Amino acid sequence: MTGRKIRKLLIANRGEIALRVIRTARAMGIATVAVYSDADRSAAHALAADEAIALGASEPAHSYLNIAAIIRAARASGADAIHPGYGFLSERPEFARAVRDHELIFVGPPAKVMAALGDKVAARRLAVKAGTPVVPGVETGELGAARKFADRAGYPILVKAAAGGGGRGMRVVGEASALEAALVAAAREAQAAFGDGRVFLEKYLARPRHVEIQLLGDRHGEVVAFGERDCSIQRRHQKIIEEAPAPGLAEATRTRMVEAALALARAAGYQNAGTAEFLLDGDEFYFLEVNARLQVEHPVTELRFGRDLVAEQLRIAAGERVGAPPEPRGCAIECRINAEDPEHDFRPATGRVASLTLPAGPGVRVDTHLGVGAEVSPHYDSLAAKLIAYGADREEARARMVAALEEFSLVGIRTTAALLRDVIASEAFARADLSTHFLEEHMPRWRPDDGATRAALIAAALVAEGRLGATRGGESANGAAGGAAKARPSPWTALAGFATGGRR
Ligand code: ADP
Repeated sequence: MTGRKIRKLLIANRGEIALRVIRTARAMGIATVAVYSDADRSAAHALAADEAIALGASEPAHSYLNIAAIIRAARASGADAIHPGYGFLSERPEFARAVRDHELIFVGPPAKVMAALGDKVAARRLAVKAGTPVVPGVETGELGAARKFADRAGYPILVKAAAGGGGRGMRVVGEASALEAALVAAAREAQAAFGDGRVFLEKYLARPRHVEIQLLGDRHGEVVAFGERDCSIQRRHQKIIEEAPAPGLAEATRTRMVEAALALARAAGYQNAGTAEFLLDGDEFYFLEVNARLQVEHPVTELRFGRDLVAEQLRIAAGERVGAPPEPRGCAIECRINAEDPEHDFRPATGRVASLTLPAGPGVRVDTHLGVGAEVSPHYDSLAAKLIAYGADREEARARMVAALEEFSLVGIRTTAALLRDVIASEAFARADLSTHFLEEHMPRWRPDDGATRAALIAAALVAEGRLGATRGGESANGAAGGAAKARPSPWTALAGFATGGRR
C-alpha cells in the first residue's frame, strides 16, 4: 500500500467548504480545481481555485450530483485526487467507486466502508456487534413488528429512514393511533429524498444531548479519536451550534464513548475523517450513526487540537500514517448562521448580499463563501457563514462568540444570526443546560427585539436607496445586530453608518 503524492486536487463541492478545502490545499502546495454550476459562475470557490470547470445547470442533479461530469472535469484538468466536502456526493459509495475506478484518489473512506455505514440499520448492527450500545429500536418498518416494539418500549417513538440524513424521513410518533400514518409518510419521504424507502423505529429519547467523536483512520489500520463535540442545539433535528469539549461530560463517560467509537471504526475498517454520533442521556450513551466524511462542525475540533483536519485528510489519502492526536486545549464554539427566517419555522431565505460585516479578533474564525453582491439561491443549502470562537475556557469562548455575533451583520437576506446571539448570550447556554430541545425549552417564542427590528428596517431602507452596500455594512435585515438587541445600541451600527457616510 504505497502512497501517491497529491499534486492537483478537484473539489467536488461549493460554498464555504469548497473554499475551506482550497485554502488548505494551497497552503500545502497542491494545485486546485473548482467545479461550478450555472448559478455559481462567479461564486467565491470558482474564483479562488487555480482552475474552474463548469458542470451544468444549477439544479444539483445536473451539477454537484453529476458524477460523470465531475469525473470528466477531473480528467480534463489532470487532477489526481477529489475531495467531496460534505453533503452532495460525499457519502455516495458509487461516487467513491467511480473516482477510484478512474485511478484517482478519493479523499474519504473506501466505497465498501461507506456503503456499510451509510445504511443506518446496517451501521446499528455493526455497532451492536462491536459492543456499542444503540438506542432501543426495531430494524423494520413492518406495521406488526413496529406496533409490538412501540407498545413494549412506550411512546413517543421515532420513525427513521435507513438511508436518512439531514433530519429527513424522520417522524416522532406520540401515540399508537398515529403510528401507521407516520410509517407511510416517513417511507414516502425517504423514497423521494434518498431513493430508498426503508424505515426503522427507535425509542424517542425525551431530553438527550447529541455528542459525537471525531475519528481519523489511515490506510495502515490505525484509527485515532480527536475528542468529542456537543451538537445538542438544533432546529428540526439539525445542528445549529456545536462546541468542543462537551461541557460537564464525566471523564469516565467520555473515555467509554471514545472507546466505543474506536471499536466501531476498527470493526468497519474505517479510513480518513469520520464521525461517530451518539445520543447522551444522563451517563448513558447510544450510538446513532457514522458520518463517513468531514463534518460541518469540524473547526471546533481544529481549534481545540491545533490541527488542520483537511490537511490530515489529504495526508491520509496520500498514504501517510495518522499520528497520535495532540493534547487538546481550551474550548471552541461554532454557530451556523443560516439564510433562514427563524420567525417562520426556519424557512429558507434567498436574495443578494447588500452589505456584510464579518467579525475578527483574537480567537475568532469565520468560514464563509459570501461577500457583497453574492447571491443565496434556492438551489443549495442555507448555510451562510460559520462563526467559530475559541477561548482558554468555555466562558471566554462564549463571550467572544457573543461579541462576534454582535459584530456580524448581513444586509439583504434574513439570517439566524440574531437568534444565535440570544442563545449564546442566554443564561441557560452559559450554564450549559444543553439538550436537543434547547430552543423549544428556552426560546419557544423567539422574536428579534424592537431595537434590532428597527435597525433592520433602517438598513433595508438604506439598501433600497443605494446608500448602503459596502463591505463594512450596516445592520442586518434580520436585525442581526443582535448587538442592538436588549435595547443596547451596537457600536457596529455607528461604525457602519460612519464608514458608509464617509465613503459616499
Ligand atoms: P440524520 O442523519 O437525519 O441527521 P440522526 O440519526 O443523525 O439523523 O439524528 C439527528 C438528530 O435527531 C439527533 O441529533 C437528535 O436530535 C434527533 N434524534 C435522532 N434519533 C433520536 C432518538 N432516538 N431520540 C431522540 N432524538 C433523536
